Amino acid sequence: MNSIESTDDRYVGPPFTRYAYIQEFWVECPKCARAARVIRKEREAIGDDKLLCHHCNYTELGEERIRYTASVRRACSNCGESIEVTIPNNKEKVAELKYSCPYCHAPEVYKPNNIPYRLKYCADRLVDPVFGLPLWFRENVKGDTLWANNKEHLLEIRNYVTAKLRERQTMRVTTMVEKLPQFIKAAKNRDAVLKAVGRLLKK
Ligand SMILES: [Zn+2]
Ligand SMILES: [Zn+2]
Repeated sequence: MNSIESTDDRYVGPPFTRYAYIQEFWVECPKCARAARVIRKEREAIGDDKLLCHHCNYTELGEERIRYTASVRRACSNCGESIEVTIPNNKEKVAELKYSCPYCHAPEVYKPNNIPYRLKYCADRLVDPVFGLPLWFRENVKGDTLWANNKEHLLEIRNYVTAKLRERQTMRVTTMVEKLPQFIKAAKNRDAVLKAVGRLLKK
């Protein structure tokens, strides 16, 4: 099952899950608008990821975009009314929050919860998960958007679409190609998809 072999009429690609395609993302550089890469060190760690542009040498660390939302939810110790304070966009954890109760006006110092999140460049759907930069490999196919996280991902989609027969590679693992949207799998779109992949590879 690990052999990589692609013939004209049979797709025998590796049974990768999409996890294999989420360690590197090709994105539009926020400085020069050419292709840059987002490298993820670890899937779980929040601070290790970085952005590298080999065109303009711009780099940025994922941890520089971490912000904290400080929040307090509790009953006022003076009057018992419930207090809810949320202050987003702090570059560092907030240790103490001075706040006066809106009901009895008694001042108090709270130790807030600090919830980390990442400041994203844009809120679009087709972006990398760290910086929120637009994916580089995006192309219109008859009104749908063909996209790939990186070049290997794009080439694997091309291999798959090129094959005329698709083999279900394993019953247990959901592979990347099985999760592809229907417009990519549709035989009638095969030429349009391959042309779009070709445009992206020349981009
Ligand atoms: Zn750049
Ligand atoms: Zn109060």
